Amino acid sequence: MKTILQTQKCFGCGACAAACPKFFEMNKDGKAHLKNSTLNPETNEEKLEAEGTDCIQEAVDVCPAQCIKIVN
Ligand code: SF4
Repeated sequence: MKTILQTQKCFGCGACAAACPKFFEMNKDGKAHLKNSTLNPETNEEKLEAEGTDCIQEAVDVCPAQCIKIVN
């Protein structure tokens, strides 16, 4: 199970960090950051291998930009 955050689509509303502070925080650049993730500099996607989704699904559901994805 992986979580992917497409940072280029994020407009910094903060909903993911409010819904799931265990995994999401807001960066100084105003965009969301997936904690402990690795960044692909070519796509600007952050990727995290997560054991169980916890509140990540809630973050997916509340993101108005639909830039958080859970993939197997
Ligand atoms: S909910 Fe989506 S648009 Fe809002 S800060 Fe999080 S990733 Fe960015």
